[in-house]
Amino acid sequence: MLATDPRYKYLMDIIMPNSCAVCGKVIVWDKLVCDECAADMPDMFDGLILAENTEGAVGVFYYEGAVIGLIYRSKHGGAVNNFAELCAEKLAERLRDRGIAENIDLVTAVPMHRRKRLARGQNHAERAARFVADKLSRPVDLSLLERSGDTTEQHKLEKEERRSHAENVYKAAKHHSDIKGKTILICDDVITTGSTISACAERLKEMGAAKVYACSAAVSDVYRDSKDMDHIIP
Ligand SMILES: [Zn+2]
Repeated sequence: MLATDPRYKYLMDIIMPNSCAVCGKVIVWDKLVCDECAADMPDMFDGLILAENTEGAVGVFYYEGAVIGLIYRSKHGGAVNNFAELCAEKLAERLRDRGIAENIDLVTAVPMHRRKRLARGQNHAERAARFVADKLSRPVDLSLLERSGDTTEQHKLEKEERRSHAENVYKAAKHHSDIKGKTILICDDVITTGSTISACAERLKEMGAAKVYACSAAVSDVYRDSKDMDHIIP
């Protein structure tokens, strides 16, 4: 049973009261955010980032303020299903508004190294992919790509290093399913320079994907002045 299932939510609320995806305040079992947060959401991004090798990437929030803490918590465990579901709902909405949603054949995620996944218990990008796939009613395939043993964290590198690092780290999984001619949606948690999704999209296209779109809960605030950037469609 996926965490978006109303039966799951109703039962979970008895064990652990439901809480607002943004501020954490206790709320009624079938809501995602409290009334105050619904009226005053953190700043949102609704552009389309034309990251290299992709047909475009959508995001929900800017990676700043309270959102940094929410992303951190969703990476390191904790009851963050509401935040994941809220982001998935918004991402599905943006993909529908741009006419992309109906073309998606398969949803996947930026892979995490096995050792790290074991340490954290789950891959947050995989959870995001499951939620987004659920909102779009599309199948999810989390065994298309693999991450090499290099565990250097992308966000600790400079822009140029990020690019070459990302290109070397992600590879096609040995026994991946046939994605020839398919349109793939790949999920990540934060889009900073776009080098991770660009590298993953490049692999997916080498594997035969026709189109690759990307989505993430947050994007760097450098994308804020999107009207002035030529790699962003407002
Ligand atoms: Zn709230």
